[in-house]
Amino acid sequence: MKIYNTLTKTKQEFEPVEPGKVKMYVCGPTVYNLIHIGNARPMIVFDTVRRYFEYKGYDVNYVSNFTDVDDKIINKAAEEGVDASVISERYIEECKKDMAGMNVREATTHPKATEEIGGMIDMISTLIEKGYAYVAEDGTVYFRVKSFRPYGKLSHKDLDNMQSGFRALQVSGEEQKEDPLDFVLWKPKKEGEPYWDSPWCQGRPGWHIECSVMAKRYLGDEIDIHAGGEDLIFPHHENEIAQSEAANGVTFSKYWMHNAFLNIEKDGVVEKMSKSKGNFFTVRDISEKFDLQVLRFFMLSAHYRSPLNFSADLMAAAKNGLERILTAAAHLKDVAENGADGEMTAQEQELLAGTDEFVKKFEEAMDDDMNTADAIAAVFELVRYANTNVTAESTKAFAAGIREIFTKLTDVLGIVTEKQEENLDAEIEALIAERQEARKNKNYARADEIRDQLAAQGIILEDTREGVKWKRS
Ligand code: AMP
Ligand code: ZN
Repeated sequence: MKIYNTLTKTKQEFEPVEPGKVKMYVCGPTVYNLIHIGNARPMIVFDTVRRYFEYKGYDVNYVSNFTDVDDKIINKAAEEGVDASVISERYIEECKKDMAGMNVREATTHPKATEEIGGMIDMISTLIEKGYAYVAEDGTVYFRVKSFRPYGKLSHKDLDNMQSGFRALQVSGEEQKEDPLDFVLWKPKKEGEPYWDSPWCQGRPGWHIECSVMAKRYLGDEIDIHAGGEDLIFPHHENEIAQSEAANGVTFSKYWMHNAFLNIEKDGVVEKMSKSKGNFFTVRDISEKFDLQVLRFFMLSAHYRSPLNFSADLMAAAKNGLERILTAAAHLKDVAENGADGEMTAQEQELLAGTDEFVKKFEEAMDDDMNTADAIAAVFELVRYANTNVTAESTKAFAAGIREIFTKLTDVLGIVTEKQEENLDAEIEALIAERQEARKNKNYARADEIRDQLAAQGIILEDTREGVKWKRS
């Protein structure tokens, strides 16, 4: 299996640190608001990477943090007049709901920065002892960038060039740094902010040290994959490497994976979706119009390293594509339950063996740096194959055999075919209830509208003495 490593700028064969295991860290969101669909891209993409490693038989330890101490959280808490933890706890819960909707599995561990302060103080102390960090007069601790020779190796930046650029950008209040490139490991508290005691001052950690410490605690000093959006390459991941490798003395992560941006067009300009630009949709917004599986399918329809433009058209296409898969799954389930009894025919056995071709294509695509776009194309080929070859006359055993292979592949993509059906059923029943209510209130226009909407979805209603019954046409 090959994955593209930002560190070497090449696709490399994946070789785990420990045979059979994958230790993977994905930088998680700062929790001060509902997540937007740009934040959802790394969640969906790396959840799929995790699923594929598991499909291949690896035991995956997947760690993804919540950054729950940050200026934005503190500001929001001040606005609402509550403690910062009220804000972060609220949005962690909301984020988990969104993740569940997108079928993003819970991480093995979801550490929170505020619960890892002890580890951060330890690592910062080690960095000071080893001469990689220093304490300024006001108690701020800085990382001494020039002391870490390989600095810039991930972002492929040259220290000398950076230095001149940074000097021009130097802002006031940073005079106490030995060098403009140095970055904060620990900073003194300001009035009204959350703080912790430390050997240097009462204060709080810098953002970068959080991830170095949480990765070390839950995965160890040497991990396989560190991932996040490409905006994190510099400075966040570059700084994580500096901290971890300086403190631990070993290579931090063998592979660095970065997803490209989810963009959006506004007034003719295509831009990265971000909170600060105000050009975002939250995952919650999308959930009002679509099942979140559609959003997941949309994200996976592009390669993770290609920029992806969000648009209504592409979402509609994703919805159609997903429906084709779900319809095929429902058909396979139906024949597996209601098809002919008895053993598979010789022809069916041959047809079942014929699915190897699609599985191979799927795996080849995923083995080539997680090319989900091509993997989905292989799934569609399997859909066509199943629709053509599995008929009402097929044996249960044959349909079940194809279904098992089909489900194995859709599971890697995180498409849940069963749950989807339950959701759809619930939706249909809610509409039927609404129609009954409308009729009771003599709102016949609305009642007819619902009947038409259901008819368009292939749902046939029958008024019976026991109430309204429905079936799929
Ligand atoms: P943040 O909460 O801004 O720290 O972001 C959490 C994660 O979402 C990081 O991995 C970011 O790189 C990623 N991210 C933020 N905006 C986008 C976007 N528009 N497209 C893709 N990834 C993004
Ligand atoms: Zn991080």
